[in-house]
Amino acid sequence: MSDETYTLAVLGAGPAAIYGADKLADAGHDIVMLNRDIKPGGLAEFGIYPTKYRMKGGLRQVFRRILDRDRIHYIGNVKAGMEADIRVDEIRDLGFDAIVTAVGAQGTRWLGLPGEDAEAVFHAKDLVYHFNKLPPFSEREYPIGDDVCVIGLGNVCLDIVHWLSCEKQVDSVTAVYRRGPAERPCTERELKIVSGAMDVEQIQAEIDAIAEDLERVDQDPEEEFEDLVEYADEPLEAEGSPTDFRFRFLRSPVGIETDEDGQVTGLEVEKNALRPPEDEDDRPGIEGTGEHDMLSCDTVIFAIGDKIEPSLGLPLDPDHGEEFATVPGDWDKHPDRPRYMVWDPDRGEPLWDTFVVGWAREASDGLVGKAKQDAEQGCDEILAYLDGDFSIAPGGDADPDELLDDLLDLLDERDVRYVTFPEVQALEDREERIADERNLEEFKFSSIDRMLEVLDEAG
Ligand SMILES: Cc1cc2nc3c(=O)[nH]c(=O)nc-3n(C[C@H](O)[C@H](O)[C@H](O)COP(=O)(O)OP(=O)(O)OC[C@H]3O[C@@H](n4cnc5c(N)ncnc54)[C@H](O)[C@@H]3O)c2cc1C
Repeated sequence: MSDETYTLAVLGAGPAAIYGADKLADAGHDIVMLNRDIKPGGLAEFGIYPTKYRMKGGLRQVFRRILDRDRIHYIGNVKAGMEADIRVDEIRDLGFDAIVTAVGAQGTRWLGLPGEDAEAVFHAKDLVYHFNKLPPFSEREYPIGDDVCVIGLGNVCLDIVHWLSCEKQVDSVTAVYRRGPAERPCTERELKIVSGAMDVEQIQAEIDAIAEDLERVDQDPEEEFEDLVEYADEPLEAEGSPTDFRFRFLRSPVGIETDEDGQVTGLEVEKNALRPPEDEDDRPGIEGTGEHDMLSCDTVIFAIGDKIEPSLGLPLDPDHGEEFATVPGDWDKHPDRPRYMVWDPDRGEPLWDTFVVGWAREASDGLVGKAKQDAEQGCDEILAYLDGDFSIAPGGDADPDELLDDLLDLLDERDVRYVTFPEVQALEDREERIADERNLEEFKFSSIDRMLEVLDEAG
């Protein structure tokens, strides 16, 4: 390992950015971290369900310890991107030795269905940010009706069901999933949390209705039913909630029906048939039958995963327009190029100083542990690049203090009210005090203006 030290810009301050920065600091490098939000943590702070206090508190403690390291300089309330506070090429021009992009998946994935632009059609991420109190989502109204269809059946769908049944206490929430119950991507642990809201009678009827499909692929309908409702007797977090949690399997959405006032009246779905897997280890395939149904509802929520936000200005993968381009796969053929490095398809070569890790590299891919692992693997590649293991190596003559000063001068010139880590700590201390005074598990300021006001008052 070379003993040269470098200064890297890390974009984002979610799990990938923070664990990555920790690893880079361990190797003796300086990190300047630019984060869109005032507070760090990304989806660990503003995504993981609010009442998972222990998990969130544990992560917060680890993150605080890392962000308090001398070599890590946190700057919050600064968005990087084309129309944002600072562009990626401006960050590069300041002289950082490498840029690590860990901005998560901030884009919204829609299906392009007729009626998608109706008022009561939402994307899960916006609601998740809303109920986790991330400005500006925390300040927006999301008028949810009484009967909600959620498209998808992953863990995010179940967090939405959790919120709808325990906080909003809607009459019904129906998870609409294109495959069968055995292929559901959610985990048992998350399903258990919302099982107390299950409408067991409806679920039995639904399994009976698709029994022939299940048997065609050697699945036992009764076993599937038992497996699905295993925890239905467990109490829900909000006891006495009126919500019925239902399922419609083997249904793909094809359109959203609205009345003459634009109000959602139903979700039109196409029925799918299950076909036996081509390979023994595969899951069964699905194919549309052409048969359509209308599921009555007044609100539709998409929980189908997120995508990256192209306005960051990094090149996109031409074959996967919704992802940043990274050095093309089959690493064995390219031992001269670090994986996780951004690829410029127009020039046919990598951007030698720019890397991408975590959900920014692969949107909606796994839990915090996975984002950590991805960031750490990415940082191994970055360290190898910094050590000169590849054909192009960084200059390494940047002075970290000067770089930080230049960056802050640029932000000051633009009147960007950035927030330092001591300020974040002051804000969090104040939130903790308010939570104690009000006897709450947690309190969060939910507007940027209020947070800045509190900081300015504290001087
Ligand atoms: C609803 C939901 C519930 C979840 N529940 C769990 C759970 O219970 N347990 C678990 O282990 N995992 C859970 N996860 C997964 C976990 O949150 C992710 O694996 C992890 O947060 C991904 O980390 P990341 O750093 O790649 O992205 P993110 O966490 O999204 O962090 C991205 C960071 O980049 C910043 N940023 C964005 N754009 C810019 C920009 N242009 N400039 C500068 N900064 C920017 C953001 O402010 C943020 O700080 C959940 C995810 C969701 C969506």
